[in-house]
Order: sequence, then C-alpha cells, then structure tokens
Amino acid sequence: MRTILIIVGFGALAAAVASVAGCGATGGSSGRVQVVATTMQVADFARQVGGDRVEVTGLLDAEAEPHDYEPTPSDAEAVSEADLVVANGANLDDWLGDLLEQAGADAPRVEAARGVTLLPTDEEGFPGDPHVWHDPTAAARMVDNVAAGLARADPAGRDAYRRRAAIYRQRLDRMAKSIRESFAPIPPEQRDLVTSHDAFGYFARAYDLNVIGSVLPTVTTEAEPSAQQIKALVDEIRAERVRTVFTEEAVEPRLERRVAEEAGARVSTSLYADALGPPGSGTAGFVEAELANARAMRSAWIAP
Ligand SMILES: [Zn+2]
Repeated sequence: MRTILIIVGFGALAAAVASVAGCGATGGSSGRVQVVATTMQVADFARQVGGDRVEVTGLLDAEAEPHDYEPTPSDAEAVSEADLVVANGANLDDWLGDLLEQAGADAPRVEAARGVTLLPTDEEGFPGDPHVWHDPTAAARMVDNVAAGLARADPAGRDAYRRRAAIYRQRLDRMAKSIRESFAPIPPEQRDLVTSHDAFGYFARAYDLNVIGSVLPTVTTEAEPSAQQIKALVDEIRAERVRTVFTEEAVEPRLERRVAEEAGARVSTSLYADALGPPGSGTAGFVEAELANARAMRSAWIAP
C-alpha cells in the first residue's frame, strides 16, 4: 500500500515538473540565489548565512516529520528551480535523492552534517544518530558547510557568507553558554530526559543530561513500541524516579501520556526535536527553539 502511494505521489510530482517546464519558469525572478532546504533547522542556517543574497524555501514545516517525509508536487517545483539544495544529511532526509531525481533537478547539493562524527545507534541501516543540530559544536560545523555551499553557488557572495556565518557561530556560542548556565544549578544526576523519540542524544552529550529512554524506541519516528518496550520504559522511569515525560512538537503525544500515567510521571511542554516553531511563534529560529527546549527542561527539573 505504502509503495503504491509513493508511486502515485511521484507521478504527481513528474506532472507538476512537466507543467513548470512548460511554462518556461526557471530560476528566481528576484535575482537572489534560490535555496531549497529540507529541514527547518538547515533552512534557518541558510537564511542566517545567506541574508539578503538568498531566498530560502524550506520543504518541511512545523507539522512535518523529516524521517519519512513524502515530498509534494510543490517541493518538486521548488527543487527544479533551485540554485542550491541544502540537506541535513546523516540519513535524515534521504528522500531528497528521489525527489531531485524525479524533479530532474540539477542544482548543487550540500549536506550540512557532512564531516560531523555521528553518535552510534542500534538502528539497522543507520550510519548514526541524525539529530546532529542539537550539538552546538556540530551546528557550527553545519553553518560552515552551508556557507561553503552558498559560496560555491554564488562565488560573488563568498566574503558575505563567511562573515555572516562567523557572526551566527558567535550566536550559537552564546546560546550554548546560556543553556549551560541555566542548567548549572541542577545536579547532573537530576537532568533526566524521557522524550517521544530518541532525538536528544547530542543535546544530552553537549549539556550533560541523562537520556533515560524514549517512547518510540528509535532515532526515527517510524516504529511503534511493543507492549514489552513500553513496560520496560515505565519500569525504568519508576526505577530512576523520573518525574517528567517530554512530548515533542509534530509528534502525536498519545503514547507519551500513557507512559507518563502508568509511570506516575507528568507530561511536560513539547520540545522542539525535529521541527522548529511556526512563523511568528517566537521559536521559528533554531537558537530560539533550543533555548525554549532548555527552559522547558529546566522548569520540569526544578518543579516541586
Ligand atoms: Zn527525529
């Protein structure tokens, strides 16, 4: 069933691209570098680094789920007109390859996570944990990769991209410092994390947190936990006296509520795991979303 749906989906994509080609629409009319980015995080990095020289179209929005996203005809249209395509990489957005092929897109592509050492996972067929942006050092690397990709697509902007990337890296440094300071009064053994899926491994490493477990027992959001896995997690939450189960934006919190209830824990405000907030929410930027994550965790840990 799933395969059939995908084939039908790509049929629609091909039709959309054909109609675009028929209109003779190519490239941007704004004179700006047309950038298409997969995740909201890399779209934000491209906007931060690109400034006025670029126009960024993000494929994923606050509701979308990157691990098994199904591209739409308008995505095909966007990539076919792009001067540069920015991906997360690390197997998070592998669906991009098929999208580019189906759309006949020949824009250069940059993988933001390139060169980042991935945390290992138990997942089969996964090179490592793809949620690299939650490590501020890795995020800085991603920003540099995006800047290098932009400079290749638009050599005249090389210095501007380099300068803006350096300024943004300083913001990332301040963000990480502020998160560390906000966690500092809380003993590391109290900084427990139970989330929807296993997306905060890098965050935990960077800020000295304990990942107790996740409701979806993987680094993707595709698998449903078995009854046995749920019971094991509930037991773990009780044994470790974890008080809070964190839900995530863009993930239906039904199972999280059940686990929290069975374990006698409470459910906290949603974290930004794979998505950022919608425009105007105050968390549409990567830095703002990470700071919101830290605030949500801190208030859960210090709550009476
Ligand atoms: Zn994820």
